[in-house]
Amino acid sequence: MIRALIAAGLILAYAALPAMSGTPLSEPRLILPHAAAHQQPHVALTLDACSGKADQRILQALVANHIPATVFVTGRWLRRNGDTVKLMLSHPDLFQIENHGAKHIPAVDLPMKVYGIAAAGSPEAVKAEVEGGKAAVIAATGSAPMWFRGATGRYDTAAMAEIRGLGEAIAGYSIRADDGATLPAAAVVRRIASARDGDVIIAHVNKPGRTSGAGVVQGILALKARGYLFVKLGVPPKPATPHAS
Ligand SMILES: [Zn+2]
Repeated sequence: MIRALIAAGLILAYAALPAMSGTPLSEPRLILPHAAAHQQPHVALTLDACSGKADQRILQALVANHIPATVFVTGRWLRRNGDTVKLMLSHPDLFQIENHGAKHIPAVDLPMKVYGIAAAGSPEAVKAEVEGGKAAVIAATGSAPMWFRGATGRYDTAAMAEIRGLGEAIAGYSIRADDGATLPAAAVVRRIASARDGDVIIAHVNKPGRTSGAGVVQGILALKARGYLFVKLGVPPKPATPHAS
């Protein structure tokens, strides 16, 4: 509980900081709500499927070890990975599929680049990214997404309000495990090992050629061995709560 309160305070401070110098973007922090007392540390593994392929090392390890995850998919990734979608749909207890946008365009309504990717650049383009991703998730799964995570995880204030107005909660995180699957496996393992009760971990499941994915597998299995319980993000909390930043 204390940690939740501390983290709630951090949300406000963190969100007010610019994500990069000269830009007004924020990288929202998300932690799990502490609904009930529990003895095991609870963490959520979230996996982004931006574009490209599916990292079967991670997916098979999740299935084999009964570890649930929330997977953020783009319309672009869904079109190329039908077999993996089928695998996830055949394990509804393990996989929650949510919205990572139509084309992996940062949900920022200012004309700028975020990590070298051109942002949507207007409210209309942000809406197209959110609604296009939503339509793709519905077409693939039959269910409407409840959470949205934009490409790069950065947003401007107006875009965050717009996304919430479209009915989706913004899926931040509290531990970046792999920096877009650019980190070597050992570094990913160390970052995941730092998880504490309530943390929301982000990693990538679309780059099977990188060593990061091996680190994701090793890291989550180590947490499980330490007694951590993995949970899906589930239904978003009400917007008024600090956890939904
Ligand atoms: Zn992405």
